[in-house]
Amino acid sequence: MNEVLPQLNELLFSSVEGCLAHVYGNAADRPERQRRYPTDMTDAEWAEVRPLLPVPGWMRGRGGRPEGYCHRALLDAIRYLVDNGVKWRAMPADFPPWDRTYAFFRRWRDHALVREFHDRLRARVRERLGRDAQPTAGVIDSQSVKGSRIGNMFDDLPPDLARLLTLRVWHAMWLQRIDTKIAALQKRDAEQEQGRTNRPQEPDWIVELGIGNGRPPIEVHAGNCYAAGKRRRPVPRDEARRLLTSGVRACTHCKPDAQLRILD
Ligand SMILES: [Zn+2]
Ligand SMILES: [Zn+2]
Repeated sequence: MNEVLPQLNELLFSSVEGCLAHVYGNAADRPERQRRYPTDMTDAEWAEVRPLLPVPGWMRGRGGRPEGYCHRALLDAIRYLVDNGVKWRAMPADFPPWDRTYAFFRRWRDHALVREFHDRLRARVRERLGRDAQPTAGVIDSQSVKGSRIGNMFDDLPPDLARLLTLRVWHAMWLQRIDTKIAALQKRDAEQEQGRTNRPQEPDWIVELGIGNGRPPIEVHAGNCYAAGKRRRPVPRDEARRLLTSGVRACTHCKPDAQLRILD
C-alpha cells in the first residue's frame, strides 16, 4: 500500500484536469468547459493552484455530496465574477450554474478556506522568490529553510494529519475500485477466450425453416453458409441429401447440391 500511494498521488496530480471533483466526485460526467475568457487560468496557473486546494469536506467524511463540478471551472467562474464585477446571476452560461459556484465559494469562505488558500498561495510565491515561507519565522536557520523549500517543492499533499489520513483512505478505496474493474475485465477477457475455444463445431449441413404450421424446410445449406437464415436446424448428411432430392431448394451461395453431388 505504501509503495502504491506515491504513484496514485502522481496519477492524481499529473493529469491537467485532475481536480478532486474530477477524480473522486462526478465532475468527469460533464463535458469539459472550453476556456475562452482572459480570466480563465492557463494550464500552468492551474497546475500551480490545484495542489493548494483544500480537500473538500465530503472527502473527509464531513458530509455533503460529492461535487459535480470541476474545481477549475468553479475557480475560473469566481475569477470571472471578480474581474468583471458581474452579479452572481449574470454568470455566463458556460460556467457551472451560478448557485453551485456561489455555494462552492461560500463554503470556502465560511470555513476560512479562502484565507487558507491565499496563505498557501502566498507561501508558494515567497518560496519562488527565495524567501522564508513563514513571514515571522525568523528563528529558522538557513539550513532548515533550504530543507523545507525542497520539501515543499515536491509536496503536493495536504498539510495536516486529518486530511492526509482521509486522503489515504480515499486512495485505498480508489485503488480497490480500480482493482475490481481490472479483475472484472480480466474475467471477461478470459471468458471470451474460453468461449472462442469451446465454441461448438459447425454442423456439416443445415436446413433453413419456413414460418407457419410445422415450420416446413425451405432451403438446404452447407453448415458454414453466411446466407442461411436464423430459423434453422442442423441436419446430418443423409437428411440434407433426402431433402434436396425431395425438392427442397438448394442455396445458390453454398451450393449444397453440388457438394452432395446430386445435380440434375
Ligand atoms: Zn476538474
Ligand atoms: Zn447457403
